Amino acid sequence: MARPILLAVDDDTSVLEAVVQDLRRQYGATYRVMRAASGQAALDTLDQLKARQEPVALILSDQRMPGIAGVEFLERARTIYPDAKRVLLTAYADTEAAIRAINTARIHYYLNKPWDPPEEKLYPVLTDLLDDWNAGYQPPFEGLRVIGHRWSLNDHKVRSFLSRNQVPYRWLDVAASPDTLKLLTDRQLNPDQLPVVLFADGTWLVDPDVESLAGRVGLSTQATQEFYDLVVVGAGPAGLAAAVYGASEGLRTLVIEPEAPGGQAGSTSRIENYLGFPSGITGADLGRRAHAQASRFGSEFLTQRATGLRIDGQYRFVQLADGQEVSSHAVLLSTGVHYRKLDIPGADRLTGRGIYYGAALVEAAACKDEEVFVVGGANSAGQAALHFARFACKVTMLVRGPGLAATMSKYLIDEIERTSNIVLEAKTQVLEAIGEERLEGLKLLGPQGATTVPASSLFVFIGAAPGTDWLPKSLLRDDQGFLLAGPQLRTDGKLPEIWKEPREPFLLESSVPGVFVAGDIRHGSVKRVASAVGEGSIAVQFVHQYLAGF
Ligand SMILES: Cc1cc2nc3c(=O)[nH]c(=O)nc-3n(C[C@H](O)[C@H](O)[C@H](O)COP(=O)(O)OP(=O)(O)OC[C@H]3O[C@@H](n4cnc5c(N)ncnc54)[C@H](O)[C@@H]3O)c2cc1C
Repeated sequence: MARPILLAVDDDTSVLEAVVQDLRRQYGATYRVMRAASGQAALDTLDQLKARQEPVALILSDQRMPGIAGVEFLERARTIYPDAKRVLLTAYADTEAAIRAINTARIHYYLNKPWDPPEEKLYPVLTDLLDDWNAGYQPPFEGLRVIGHRWSLNDHKVRSFLSRNQVPYRWLDVAASPDTLKLLTDRQLNPDQLPVVLFADGTWLVDPDVESLAGRVGLSTQATQEFYDLVVVGAGPAGLAAAVYGASEGLRTLVIEPEAPGGQAGSTSRIENYLGFPSGITGADLGRRAHAQASRFGSEFLTQRATGLRIDGQYRFVQLADGQEVSSHAVLLSTGVHYRKLDIPGADRLTGRGIYYGAALVEAAACKDEEVFVVGGANSAGQAALHFARFACKVTMLVRGPGLAATMSKYLIDEIERTSNIVLEAKTQVLEAIGEERLEGLKLLGPQGATTVPASSLFVFIGAAPGTDWLPKSLLRDDQGFLLAGPQLRTDGKLPEIWKEPREPFLLESSVPGVFVAGDIRHGSVKRVASAVGEGSIAVQFVHQYLAGF
């Protein structure tokens, strides 16, 4: 944390030097001592300090200075730093003026020159004033500040990225306070440019993409090595397990993940059925622990999105969104699934402006005391409903089927029934999302016919599909896009023509030798954290066997 500042102001260089020396000797360990040679220079310094949000504890100014005199300067300084203690240094002849200034300019004290010995004439007064200042001083928040708008998709993306990567930040809603608007106008920015991320060093990014943000918050975006044994694409439970086992067993392992370690599990509120955590574990916590564990063994992580896969003889090249390529002998694809989109009028326009996919935990606090709607009847929807019930005054679950029994685990159904502010609307579907700038209502079709209800938040859990379009056609997949691996590659007992190896594909190997598949992205996988972890772990065994063939 930056030390609070003591600012000394005098046009006489030798006097200024003497004040600064005395201040440093007594207060240098706790405060930063700065100087200015005129009132105007001091005002400029204060403006800059203010823009950087640095705390100023005390301003000590000479009275007789050309240009702006001491009293006038301290009066103007008060508008910049109203809480800083203001002390006037005067010659004996100016004592009367100094006393008057205590009232008119609200200075806190005046000191006569010379102040020798400082132990008697300077420090007692200043220490007293500084104690007083300290009592009312709250250290400023030092992390990032995100200025945004609650009903903005980009704002939601930035906050979600920071939260999931455990980067502390403070969110400032531009609509909530004129001070926030001033933070923008002070930087010649306007609300059309939101979200804006302000950094502690005074710099900022306007509407940043996650790659630029990743670089600024210390996440790695460049590979450190030219070549890896194993590149893992996607750091969900499957990819993280592979990273732990791969690195711990001596493979040079690189993990590529554009969001944050944890995958879908990272966005879920609480996983209650993962072995070894009897009271459940949040997905974010599981992701954080696994990331630390994999890093400890030497896995390297890049905050990047994979956009292509190129095969050249024994080498596999994963192409990244910023144009880089990383090379390896083996690749594990563990990119999971994407949420299925709600196909109704208004849904695209209002995504991120009241309609969210996945649990969107980052929005939970913003829904405090509001009504929240959740669409879907599977476990993920149930978990989200329970999570939001802790913040919202009412959670309405919109379920197409007659109830939850066929689609949701019993322990979740029991908990939902015990939660008084969750209401189930069965046999109900959403027909339309209403609102221009943000979600304002929903048109529903239920047993009683069509109704329109006011709504500001709708969380959607209606299934998921694999995002495998970016992969080459040589990776065989089922008609929904899930990748085939191992024995699944055989049709009518025969391996596909594309498979040219004289051996059988390994259990989790795709139709391209050396490219493995684990977790939700794999055809026929069980969509559970434990099975993704299991697949990621055993895939590493097959990577070893594959590499042994070189
Ligand atoms: C709301 C919800 C609640 C759930 N609750 C439970 C539960 O309680 N218990 C349970 O066992 N299971 C639960 N599941 C299921 C479980 O989360 C998944 O089965 C599991 O996360 C699958 O892991 P994965 O590693 O295969 O994929 P994912 O977890 O989907 O991870 C894939 C990762 O790949 C990344 N990625 C995607 N595309 C790219 C790309 N092009 N380049 C690089 N990286 C990419 C993604 O950002 C993501 O981090 C839940 C799922 C949801 C949605």
